[in-house]
Amino acid sequence: MLRQTTYLTKRYGVPEGWTLPVYERDGGYQQAKRALSMTREALVDEMKLANIRGRGGAGFPMGVKWSFMPWPPKPEKPHYLVINADEGEPGTFKDRTIMELDPHAVVEGCIIGCFGIGAHAAYIYVRDELHLSKARLWGAIKEAREKGYLGAKPFGIDYPVEVYVHTGAGAYICGEETSLLNSLEGKRGEPRLKPPFPANAGAFGMPTTVNNLETIAAVPVALAMGGDAFSKLSDLHDQKDGGCRLYGVSGHVNKPGIYEACVGLTLRELIYDLGGGVKGGEMLGVIPGGSSCPILRPDEVVNAPDAKSPLHRWHGKNVLDVPMGVETYRALGTMLGTCCAIVLNKNTDIVLAMHNLMRFYRHESCGQCTPCREGSAWLFRILDRMTHGEATMEELDRLHEIADNIMGNTICAFGEGTAMPALGFLRKYRKEFEEYVRTKGKSGTGRLAL
Ligand code: NAD
Ligand code: SF4
Repeated sequence: MLRQTTYLTKRYGVPEGWTLPVYERDGGYQQAKRALSMTREALVDEMKLANIRGRGGAGFPMGVKWSFMPWPPKPEKPHYLVINADEGEPGTFKDRTIMELDPHAVVEGCIIGCFGIGAHAAYIYVRDELHLSKARLWGAIKEAREKGYLGAKPFGIDYPVEVYVHTGAGAYICGEETSLLNSLEGKRGEPRLKPPFPANAGAFGMPTTVNNLETIAAVPVALAMGGDAFSKLSDLHDQKDGGCRLYGVSGHVNKPGIYEACVGLTLRELIYDLGGGVKGGEMLGVIPGGSSCPILRPDEVVNAPDAKSPLHRWHGKNVLDVPMGVETYRALGTMLGTCCAIVLNKNTDIVLAMHNLMRFYRHESCGQCTPCREGSAWLFRILDRMTHGEATMEELDRLHEIADNIMGNTICAFGEGTAMPALGFLRKYRKEFEEYVRTKGKSGTGRLAL
């Protein structure tokens, strides 16, 4: 059932919606003030009840992540809150809308988040080319500071909080949390081995929570509503996947964009009801949540006979009718990721589409791990030969082998983020790939790239 909401997008399209007077007219900063007078335990418990699964892609429970911070904070080990607004995932452009249209929700979320994890400083890491996002965040921070909501005594309460915007140079890998932390510290943006997790050794070696920007912007809404009520907005509340969230849809759809709805929207609703349907013919496939998520075919049927499977309720149904959730999508063999779908129509050259994505991954690999650095380069090289009509069937099989060798053999999730979508394309469109190799690329001629 399509359940669109406007809790997170209330000020989208409102004149001057990004300014303090408009935010306050809607009750803005009341939750930050309230949070600072709660106990830390009560706040974290409320957030656990809200069941906000991280909106950056991994879907880790936010309240649980806050609770991982060592407690009480030691004076010699200050805690930090770091907001990941790097948003480099192809097809994903939701966090940017929040920064541009509702930056005060981010600042208020940061105040509450700082209190929840025992930090006094929050860094929002934004890619430098997002000029309007930076300007709107800086503007909101200035307004909040002038009003006394940030600084030494927010709302007159003795709990200092400062929020800073830090700009990154636009490397995809700097969206990986430990790479982001290195970049924040002025080092080369390369992922660190985990553990230790940032909760133990994060920014400047101190206990740190890294939250995605949409995640933190949802915090004031969840607190205002009450954790449990917020969670119950979701059709997947029973799977501890709560609330409402932003969905994106792009590619071959009539109305690409960002839409807000309860957790549990289906791909069919996102593509046809909100996205206005497939543009230029039938659907060939859909990448559900950013390019790291394996593609789904529109003719796939759910096979989940086991009553314990999070997918069991949808056994026998078309994949497009499965509610988009962290657990349901994991069980489907793909990922929910950022919830920003990319639609491909029947005129798409599937080899060119994969070639395009693999060029991106080859370029963005930081190069620390051999399987990722060499594997992503070889995936691209073979696909490049394929598009020139030069690849053999043996090379097609080698693509599987290379992707398999990346899986589980790398420092960060980028390796799997390359290999899993690659394997998805190869397994689900094997016939098309074989035909492509056999006809030396002629079967794809005249079709569209992604
Ligand atoms: P992850 O599962 O390793 O970690 C998720 C979060 O939980 C991290 O903050 C981690 O520190 C924390 N965590 C996990 N286990 C923990 C433990 N035992 N103790 C303490 N903390 C723990 O995933 P990840 O590498 O952070 O993210 C991968 C995802 O990022 C991919 O699935 C992809 O969808 C997404 N992604 C998003 C973008 C974007 O632009 N938003 C870009 C690339 C990838
Ligand atoms: Fe770098 Fe790739 Fe290794 Fe991640 S998996 S650390 S991106 S080489």
